[in-house]
Parts: sequence; C-alpha cells; structure tokens
Amino acid sequence: MRMKGNVILVGAGPGDPGLLTQKGRQALEQADVVVFDRLVSPAILALIPSGAETIDVGKESSHHLVPQEQINRILLEKAQAGKRVVRLKGGDPFLFGRGGEELELLAEHGIDFQVVPGVTSALSVPAYAGIPVTHRDFCSSLHIITGHARAGAQLHIDFDALRRTGGTLVFLMGVTSLPKICQGLLEAGMEPSMPAAVVERGTLPSQRKVVSTLEKLPEAARDACIKSPAIIVVGRVCSLSDRFDWFDHLPLKGKSVVITRPAERSSALAGQLRELGADVTEYPCIRTVPRSACPDLDQAIENLNQYRWLVFTSPAGPGIFFDRLHSSGRDARALAGLKLAAIGPKTASELEKFGVMADLVPETYDSAHLAAAMARVEGPVLLCRASQGSSALPEIFAKNSIPFADIPCYDTVYETPDAGKVRSLLDKPVLVSFTSASTVRGFVKSLPGADLSHVIGCCIGPQTAAEAIRHGICAVTAPEATIESLIQCIKEV
Ligand code: SAH
Repeated sequence: MRMKGNVILVGAGPGDPGLLTQKGRQALEQADVVVFDRLVSPAILALIPSGAETIDVGKESSHHLVPQEQINRILLEKAQAGKRVVRLKGGDPFLFGRGGEELELLAEHGIDFQVVPGVTSALSVPAYAGIPVTHRDFCSSLHIITGHARAGAQLHIDFDALRRTGGTLVFLMGVTSLPKICQGLLEAGMEPSMPAAVVERGTLPSQRKVVSTLEKLPEAARDACIKSPAIIVVGRVCSLSDRFDWFDHLPLKGKSVVITRPAERSSALAGQLRELGADVTEYPCIRTVPRSACPDLDQAIENLNQYRWLVFTSPAGPGIFFDRLHSSGRDARALAGLKLAAIGPKTASELEKFGVMADLVPETYDSAHLAAAMARVEGPVLLCRASQGSSALPEIFAKNSIPFADIPCYDTVYETPDAGKVRSLLDKPVLVSFTSASTVRGFVKSLPGADLSHVIGCCIGPQTAAEAIRHGICAVTAPEATIESLIQCIKEV
C-alpha cells in the first residue's frame, strides 16, 4: 500500500537560522520533498536531508519565478505521490505568505496538512534593530501593512486610518513604495518629525538599518541604497533604536568566519559564532570515512589482552573501534585490562558514551603533547587512528623502545565543497577556523590558484598553525586546543 503523503507548511523565520522553530526543524529533517522560497537562508536549507528532493520556487517581488497555481499543484502532486512535503516559507507562512492560498487546493483534495508558524520578520527584524514594536510609553497598538502594489497600480492603504491609531506601523514589501508611504502618512497629518526606520536583511550578519524621521526617511534610504528585503517601521518606538541596538554591537559583528571542519561537527561551532554576530560560512573541507573492512583492527581486537594501552587521537575513533568490537561479539568488558588515552576532552567524552573512561588526556590537546605524556608508558600500545595520522606518537614510541601497533581505522578524505562563496570572501580579511592540519590541507586544495594573503587562519593548536604557515597562511593559535579557546581566539583577532 502506498504511504499517505502530507504537506507541512513551515515558517523558516527571517533569516537567522537560530530563529527556525524546533518543530520546523524536525519537519525539515523528516521531509522527502522541500519546496522553498527565495527568502529562506542557506543555513536553514543546509538542514534539509541530503536524500530529500528540493524545489526552488523563489519569488521576486515583481514577478513569480514559479506561478502560484503551479506551486499549489506541485504541493498537491507530491503529497498525492505519498511524499512528506515541507513547504518552507520566509518568516511566518500566514503573514503575507500566501500560506492560505496554498492550503486551499490541498483541503479540496483531502490531503493532510499541518502548519508550523514561524518567527515573522515583522516583529523580529525590528527587534534585531533595537526597536521594540510596542512600548507602553509610546503606543498601544501595532499594525502590519503590505507596501506592495500590483504592477502599475496604486497603493491601497488608508493612511488616515493608520495615523489615527497612533500605533506603530510596520510595512513589509515596501522598499519600492517607501516615498509613497511616507508621503501618504504626511498628507494624512502625521508629524514630519515622527521617528521612522528601514531595516534591510534583518537578523542576518549583513543587516543594515537607517533611522530617521518620516520626512527624511525616503532620502536617507536612497542614499544608503537600501534594497529588498527590508522592513519599514514608523512610530515613536524607533527613537529607541540606537539605545537598544544590541545586534550591531555583538563581538564578532562584521567579521566573516569560514568553518572548515567536517560537516557533522560544524554546526555547533557555527551556531556559537553566529550568536556572537559572525557571518559564518560552513565549508567542510574534510570528511572522516571509516574503513569498510579493517582486518588489522579486527585482528588487534582478537588479541586485545596483549596490549596495555589503547589510544584514540580524534573523536571519530571510539565509535569506529566499538563498532568493530561489538561486531566481534564483545563489549566494553574486553577492555578490562587496558588503559585508555584520548587526545582531548571531546574524544574522552566519546569514550564515555561506550561506558569507559580515559586514563590519560594530555594537558594540551594535540599529538605532540599526547606523545610526550606517553613517553614512559609500558607497552604494547594500540593506536586506533586516521591513516594519515601525525608522526609524533610513532616517533616517541620508537625512540623509547615502546612496542606499538599503528592501525589506520579511518581515512580523512578531502571534500570539494562549493568554493564560490569562499572565493568571494578572499579579497577582504577573512577568518578561517582550522581544527586540524588536515582541514588546512583540504582548504588549500579546494581553492587552487586562490590568493590566500587575506586569510587569517585561526588554528586549534601549534601543529595546525605550522601547517597553515607552510601554505603561506597567516596563523594565530588558540591558547588551548579546545573549541571554546578557538572561539576566544577568533574574538580577539
Ligand atoms: N511571511 C513573511 C513575509 C513575506 S513578505 C514574514 O512573516 O516575515 C516579504 C517581505 O518580508 C519582504 O519584502 C520584507 O519586507 C520582509 N522581510 C522578510 N525577511 C526580511 C528580513 N530578513 N529583513 C527585512 N525584511 C524582511
């Protein structure tokens, strides 16, 4: 029997990926098909599962790339084909989002649907510009109005009625009509000195705002070349904008940061940096691939009791090791006689997921310090790590006559992410976070012929920094090899 399809209308919020709701995220992660608009930010599109079909029906304000009737039809046909369809729309789907129109055809055909409201730009964009849309000292109502006029047609706005409310006015889709909107309000008798603002690309790192008066706003916005998407706010609350401006004061505002670590480890770092105001580009240059067959590891697992130490040099290691261990019919008890070493706290916490704790974590989390900390251990040592691992550990074991087996359990492969966005960042100073020497190699390899002279490599440790410098990249090193320390380092550059 064919699965019954459905459609979930999801509001993606105004742009900052942190403003997507939990329910919206869940729907996206389970989607078979995602139909999305122009205003949905790339970081949110990145959450769509790789197997899902994506359909871009991006709209421009003056014309629709895909006519509305066709969008309605796509939703219907995909749902009828048994797909879980997510219709992803900017802001809230029902606020000037044509969400209602899209549901009509579905309702008519008895398709199951749900609506996940989104954070609307009408409220959140002013908030990111330091404008509370209501304030007891200034107003007692808020009005959200479309400033869009059909091609060649007049604006149908009752300016007189709006003025009489005395409330805050928020205009969406109003950039082209801005002079007419201000003119209309002035003619309706609103004071020329009424504070007013326009906020472009709100909640995104590239957000810009112009705060002025009703009389002067059109000229100020034109001088600043304000373009769509932007929101116009008219009302006394705009006078608070400078005092309450928090977004433009975030510590990383105006800084571009590229994250090169593997995709599955990138989003937490990206989230933290975005919270600090950075313009983050996730650019995974490497990927860890477990070896499908690893006879050497299987052999070592058969003979685990011969070893005294088991060493992991990245958070990828424990999962791969325990996977093979379990496949051999054993569990954590097979490690009873062994001591465990982990290169850093993340690797140690991965071990804890399997019910075992690291006996040794070096004070500085890199292979040189791990090697130094292991210089006097009793062997044999079993090293479970990447095929292209650092030579620090084997060298120190050889030097101190400690027997060891170096088993490559996974490969680090270089990815070729879409380099267009990163290339466009390279003509200005750009911070690139490197969390291993292999991320440096992957980054350089992905940008053949690029001028890297404006790149500032923010490196997790001295070995990573040495690799950056070897490739002619200016490098700064985090004092400690942790993500927290790396973030601190990025803040201080
Ligand atoms: N449903 C959406 C609005 C769609 S109409 C919502 O709830 O937000 C599109 C208009 O929304 C744009 O023309 C602009 O006025 C506004 N808008 C959407 N995202 C915006 C953003 N990040 N910054 C400024 N305005 C935005």
